[in-house]
Amino acid sequence: MKSVTKAPRPGLKRKPAKLGPVTASGGCLCGAVRYKARGKLRGVVNCHCGQCRRWHGHVAAYTNAALADFSLTGARHLKWYRSSRIARRGFCAKCGSSLFWQRHGGATIGIAAGTLDSPTRLGSIYNIFVAHRGDYYRIADGLKRFPGTMTAG
Ligand SMILES: [Zn+2]
Ligand SMILES: [Zn+2]
Repeated sequence: MKSVTKAPRPGLKRKPAKLGPVTASGGCLCGAVRYKARGKLRGVVNCHCGQCRRWHGHVAAYTNAALADFSLTGARHLKWYRSSRIARRGFCAKCGSSLFWQRHGGATIGIAAGTLDSPTRLGSIYNIFVAHRGDYYRIADGLKRFPGTMTAG
């Protein structure tokens, strides 16, 4: 009997994960923390909640990327603050820049749009938590507003 070497069946051979081109890059003020994203980033959402306003010094503006498309350099300088039951916020421990918002265990990462390198090719899409807006400014961008999260109506 001849010994038969089994050829790998077509379709079972794993292709290496195909990484698309870098679509965005950015980083903190001092440059210690840098990031890259591949794939499509979400349009920018302005968040008026009290936590964002305290953490960013004003309204937060976030885009969003899939974690699988996201990579960091200088991760040792990135610190996380558990800001609530549902999420944590990442900042540069050297310069204090507010960089990321991430739902615990989430598959995506919120990226503070102000930390992106230009050109971002992104635009604002709507406002959330407008019921928590600070009393010292007006929202005059004409974009859709949600009193709470995007799904809260
Ligand atoms: Zn920094
Ligand atoms: Zn917020």
